Amino acid sequence: MLDKAADQKEELIPYRGPTSPYALNEIFIQDAFANDDERLWMQMTPYSWSRPLCLNASQGYWVHLSKFRGDGVVSCHRHPAPVHGFIIKGGWRYLEHDWVATEGSYIFEPPGDIHTLVALPEVEESITLFHNTGALIYCDVDGNTKGYADVFTRIDGYAKHFEKVGLGADYVKNFIR
Ligand code: FE
Repeated sequence: MLDKAADQKEELIPYRGPTSPYALNEIFIQDAFANDDERLWMQMTPYSWSRPLCLNASQGYWVHLSKFRGDGVVSCHRHPAPVHGFIIKGGWRYLEHDWVATEGSYIFEPPGDIHTLVALPEVEESITLFHNTGALIYCDVDGNTKGYADVFTRIDGYAKHFEKVGLGADYVKNFIR
C-alpha cells in the first residue's frame, strides 16, 4: 500500500533536475489589466486600446488584451492563420456573423475568416484576450487588400508607444519571445 503522506510530500518538492540553457524565460504579468498603469495600453483608435502579453517573433503570433470603449470598430480584415479569442468583459459582434460575443464567450477564427468587429453600443467597456497567428490582412468590403498587421508591426507599434509614454522602446522586449 502506498504511503499517502510521504507521497504528498514528494509532490511538493520543486523540480530540481536540469533545465535546458536554450529554453526561454517565462512571461508572468501580475496585473494583465494594468489598472494601475494606463501606459501599458497602446491606443489603436479613438475607441480601442491594446495591451501586449506575448509577442512571439519566432513563431509569428501575438497574444494581447483588446479593450473597446464606446463605438469600437476593427475594420474589415482577413486571417490567413488561426485566432483564438476569449471575452473577459463586455461584448462585441462581427458584422459577418449572427452571434454576439459576451463575457465568457470563446471564439476560434479559422484561417480564411473575414470579418469586421463592432462594439455593442450598450456596453461601456469590453476586454478580450486574443491569440493572433500570422497576420490581419485589412481589406475593403470586396476583398481588396488595404494593409496588414503582424507580430512585427505590433512590436514596432508597442515600442514606439512605450517610448512615447516614457517607459522606453526596449520595454517591449519584456513581451518578446
Ligand atoms: Fe479578426
